[in-house]
Amino acid sequence: MNEPTHTRTRFAPSPTGFIHLGNIRSALYPWAFARCTGGDFILRIEDTDLDRSTQAAVDVIIEGMSWLGLNYDEGPFYQMQRIDRYKAVLAKLQSQGHVYPCYMSMAELDALRERQTAAKEKPRYDGTWRPELGKTLPPIPADVQPVLRFKNPQTGSVKWVDKVKGFIEISNDELDDLVIARPDGTPTYNFCVVVDDIDMAITHVIRGDDHVNNTPRQINIFKALGKEAPVYAHLPTVLNELGEKMSKRNGAKPVTQYREEGYLPDAMVNYLARLGWSHGDDEIFSREQFLQWFNLDHLGKSAAQFDEAKLRWVNAQHIKSTADDVLALLVQTHLDKRGVQTDARLSSICALFKDRCDTTLALADWAAVFYADVHSTEEDLQQHVTDVVKPAITLLVDKLAVCEWSKSSIAVAIKEVLAVCGLKMPQLAMPVRVLLAGSAHTPSLDAIIALFEREKVIARLKQA
Ligand code: GLU
Repeated sequence: MNEPTHTRTRFAPSPTGFIHLGNIRSALYPWAFARCTGGDFILRIEDTDLDRSTQAAVDVIIEGMSWLGLNYDEGPFYQMQRIDRYKAVLAKLQSQGHVYPCYMSMAELDALRERQTAAKEKPRYDGTWRPELGKTLPPIPADVQPVLRFKNPQTGSVKWVDKVKGFIEISNDELDDLVIARPDGTPTYNFCVVVDDIDMAITHVIRGDDHVNNTPRQINIFKALGKEAPVYAHLPTVLNELGEKMSKRNGAKPVTQYREEGYLPDAMVNYLARLGWSHGDDEIFSREQFLQWFNLDHLGKSAAQFDEAKLRWVNAQHIKSTADDVLALLVQTHLDKRGVQTDARLSSICALFKDRCDTTLALADWAAVFYADVHSTEEDLQQHVTDVVKPAITLLVDKLAVCEWSKSSIAVAIKEVLAVCGLKMPQLAMPVRVLLAGSAHTPSLDAIIALFEREKVIARLKQA
């Protein structure tokens, strides 16, 4: 098959649970493929499972995609709003003889399945109601509303070259006649997907490999509708840290929670991109680089395993290279939730601390030290703020009360105190850090003091 020239990809989540990292990766790749080929990316919400679909889950999908910058050109389209369209296509298929009513009751289907299982056969519909030339169908029962079944070809095979899995061939005798409309006439999942992929002119279906078994059935429906199937790429599963398929049932977090935890969208994109795709040994890259490099030829074939420590590391690398004022805005959103007000110093604070933080939440914790109360632990106070050092702290307070408020002048004041009191830098720096920032581990003393307001420094050091 010739590769289509104008690519159209889609993300088609079912809003039946809060979208997690494993799911959103199935949005990232089709988005990237559309972007790097100058095509279109479409969002389609597959909400036909009325019992399990929720608006809250739709909201997380839309919010998560927007946060990660996975912008779509069309949609969101909702399958529930397209039911009339599916019914119209169904009627056409029926009029062309591709679909037939099946009156087998649930009890009969169960009995059939039991017989097949007992005979060690694969459970499948046996074609009782499939019309064939010269075949007499059973009498139509009065009390059964029929389902509609798709007349799957009985000979030959379905073949496609999957962009991830390579050549796949499934014999048609493996496939039974799929139910494509329920007794109440509502169309079923595999049929709706095909109608949508045709109507939305999708050229590349990039989705999780839990759908690979649906593909031969879908391709047969494409053929019955006289359309060529798209190119398929079935992505291997994302496993959680325990090696299980990632799912919200075993603790996967909604994508948006990573924003609350201080992850940067570009870091998430970077991390997720590597979870099943590679560009040589490159681990850290920008969104722009990703879009320059992405193609469907370097998708991984084996399951990828989520690793939170690696995600944190990737985030830390992106934090280091993010502009201070951009970080300040993100830190401010965390601090807003704590009711902490900041000022123009916030960018400089981010600049000073960003190398030691792997999330913007951690950066916000540091920033809060400059704007809110700090609580030093008793243990730190006892260990560092000893009677030996207290006179030095008093002297430092005196000098800081009058010196010019700049890093260099503060450095001079500190040196003078050390010389007068005969102390080494750590002996003074540790207690001062504990008193000022609630931690003995901070960047250099002159740098942090200079970022505080003079009054705050003096007030906190006087507590020694
Ligand atoms: N709605 C399906 C899901 O959430 C995806 C179907 C598709 O991509 O074709 O798993």
